Amino acid sequence: MVDHEKVKEAVRMLLEGIGEDISREGLRDTPDRIARMYEEICSGMDEDAGEHLSKVFTSSQNEMVLEKDIVFYSMCEHHMMPFYGKAHVAYIPDGKVVGLSKLARTVEVYAKRLQIQEQMTGQIADAIMEHLNPKGVIVMLEAEHMCMTMRGVKKPGSKTVTIASRGEFKDNTVLQNQFFQMVKQ
Ligand code: ZN
Repeated sequence: MVDHEKVKEAVRMLLEGIGEDISREGLRDTPDRIARMYEEICSGMDEDAGEHLSKVFTSSQNEMVLEKDIVFYSMCEHHMMPFYGKAHVAYIPDGKVVGLSKLARTVEVYAKRLQIQEQMTGQIADAIMEHLNPKGVIVMLEAEHMCMTMRGVKKPGSKTVTIASRGEFKDNTVLQNQFFQMVKQ
């Protein structure tokens, strides 16, 4: 849970620290606005992906299921600046499937907290393996990091791509290539 008062106090100190006048009109409600914003941005910390992934259906269809272009927004934990982009999630069912929106919900759970893209990719894959017990999972994230494009090396448009594969996707290049083809289409 976000401690609203603590965040407000911290934002006041940050504003003072960068030399701002916290009494000027434009900044008067900024600490409160930011505290409320963090409640939303960090809401995934209080959520469990299992709540979404436990609603499974039996299915005899055991071909790859891909949900692609899931837009997400997260916060890099090194700079507390946004990174955002698309997630592509595929799995091979083993008699159990989950509602497609639940894959997007799972991405949200791990996006809405301070994150590292590599870690987030693995967490999504592990949650699906744990709760759905599929034959395999592969997750790919493509994201632009504001800490890379707005400051530091300043490379606008550059993307960081991360992949996590589990089960049958781990060493099967035929399956992996099928996934990449479907993501590209
Ligand atoms: Zn960063």
